[in-house]
Amino acid sequence: MKKPFVSDEKIREIASQYPTPFYLYDEQGIRNTDALVKQAFAWNPGYREYFAVKATPNPYILKIMQDLGNGLDCSSYTELLMAKRLGFSGHDIMFSSNDTPAQDFALAKEMNVLVNFDDIGHIAFFEKRAGSLPETVCCRYNQGGVFTLGKSKEGFQVMDTPGESKFGMTREQIFSSFQILQKKGVKHFGLHAFLASNTLSNDYYPSLARIIFQLAVDLHRQLGVHIAFVNLSGGVGIPYRPEDKENDILAIGAGVKKAYEEILVPAGMKDVAIFTEMGRYMTGPHGCLVTRVLHKKKTYREYLGVDANSCNLMRPAMYGAYHHITVVGKENEPCTHVYDVTGNLCENNDKLAVQRKLPETDVGDLLIIHDTGAHGFSMGYNYNGRLRSAELLLKKDGSVIEIRRAETPEDYFATLRWPK
Ligand SMILES: *Cc1c(COP(=O)(O)O)cnc(C)c1O
Repeated sequence: MKKPFVSDEKIREIASQYPTPFYLYDEQGIRNTDALVKQAFAWNPGYREYFAVKATPNPYILKIMQDLGNGLDCSSYTELLMAKRLGFSGHDIMFSSNDTPAQDFALAKEMNVLVNFDDIGHIAFFEKRAGSLPETVCCRYNQGGVFTLGKSKEGFQVMDTPGESKFGMTREQIFSSFQILQKKGVKHFGLHAFLASNTLSNDYYPSLARIIFQLAVDLHRQLGVHIAFVNLSGGVGIPYRPEDKENDILAIGAGVKKAYEEILVPAGMKDVAIFTEMGRYMTGPHGCLVTRVLHKKKTYREYLGVDANSCNLMRPAMYGAYHHITVVGKENEPCTHVYDVTGNLCENNDKLAVQRKLPETDVGDLLIIHDTGAHGFSMGYNYNGRLRSAELLLKKDGSVIEIRRAETPEDYFATLRWPK
């Protein structure tokens, strides 16, 4: 059974102070996950997590990451600016972008961050539009084809299709890029790849590591380049469904270590640092969306109309993603009803849950939509003139602060020109 990270009493108290809907994040939960991640990779002296900003782009969350010694993975000009304003600088930042505008590279160059090239063509583009290349450069690899890990003991299968993904370079392009970069005076190299998303498997990172490590050895042997780091990127999943088995990050770290010892160490590459860019794994379970039932409706189906909608949480509408829902105060009641939980957008896919078994739920009940701490608020939008909610942080001392206010119509109007 999935339990919220706050008690009913606490959530009612918060909801009496802040209007629903709102996001709530759990600082202690984030810190606990981070401690496990650090333990998992403690064997690698250069290890660093670069938290994927796009997962939860809020300064308070990013400050927690900074306090924990993590860097940031930025993907755009605005994310770079946010990182800069928070005091992240230089190699605290990995810039993993794609289809990159010139001004983004120019700012990345000015901030002297670690640049991760998504394409061989970006090398010349960078030089022309941002200036000389940094001493350390990373390139993103895409092995193409289909990536599978087969079924785990628990019956989960990891499958993704890098061959259809717009990201990264082919093996030949990686070799050419490294040669070009080497000629242009780049001294240290990184390799990055992201082959599958939201993986529930302790084998994903280790399998990915084997692929990149082997490529690193080939590059080192054939070109004599110094590989400074391997960036395993994101993709480590979380158990959205109650029946999902969660990843064991310690087993994942041990699997990467084994690959490291079998591939890199024999090649004399003992100083390669391991980087990760996890977003979902770091914050996903440590955030929830709290919403209240406004209306009940019964036609051909039973509906719970809530005060949040897909503008607040796009994943169900966009990917058919499952987010577990519990009804505050009714966690132990039997799930005797089947509801579609809907928002108020003029779109029939505006459903936060479809044909979901829940206890009998009433107008005024509070619903907790679980595991929305990553790629939740940040994917929000403004369709139908609907506004984005506030974000709250449950601090480790138990107090709650507002870390983003709710939007107002004035915010929505702020970018409009009005005819006289
Ligand atoms: C989205 C993304 C991440 C984070 O992915 P998660 O699945 O949230 O861990 C990391 N790196 C890059 C380049 C990404 O695009």
